[in-house]
Amino acid sequence: MDLRNVRTVFLDRDGTINVKAAEGEYIRAPQDLVMLPGAAKAVAALNAAGVRTILVTNQRWLSTPSADPARFAAVQQRLDELLADEGAHLDAAYHCPHAVDSCDCRKPLAGMLFRAAQEHGLDLSESVMIGDSESDVLAGRAAGAATILLRTGAAPAAAGADVVVDDLAAAVRLIVPSVG
Ligand SMILES: [Mg+2]
Ligand SMILES: [Zn+2]
Repeated sequence: MDLRNVRTVFLDRDGTINVKAAEGEYIRAPQDLVMLPGAAKAVAALNAAGVRTILVTNQRWLSTPSADPARFAAVQQRLDELLADEGAHLDAAYHCPHAVDSCDCRKPLAGMLFRAAQEHGLDLSESVMIGDSESDVLAGRAAGAATILLRTGAAPAAAGADVVVDDLAAAVRLIVPSVG
């Protein structure tokens, strides 16, 4: 697919928009959320071009009995604020709060993308999944979306992605070339 025809961008969160937590850890509090350089501006460029932006993030820590969903909501609110500071917004956000092998939405499965397609009436063949992990690539491919892997992550160099680029800004330049 020509990425310039993309109408919907599915965005991973940790390692794609914000700095990833340490291995095996999660962003559990608003003050732990630190944006990656250029990420918010990249989302703003998609917004300005009329490309739909949908967050799809795995947050397995929420599956432990002691986890407080309000803390996740506070992190999401902080993300929305930091995006808004740069004139950017997400059109929708989905998260998987489940443990491994207990649902159909934890990436590399494509449940969040299918649900978004249904709820927003969007065409997955006109969408791209952008993320820093092989699981993002696999979820995107399972949904019939194009895939862009970011080198910000530790994923194997190719992971079968359609395109591999350095960061979210570089990915967005493929979709909205006028951003330059
Ligand atoms: Mg990630
Ligand atoms: Zn799930």
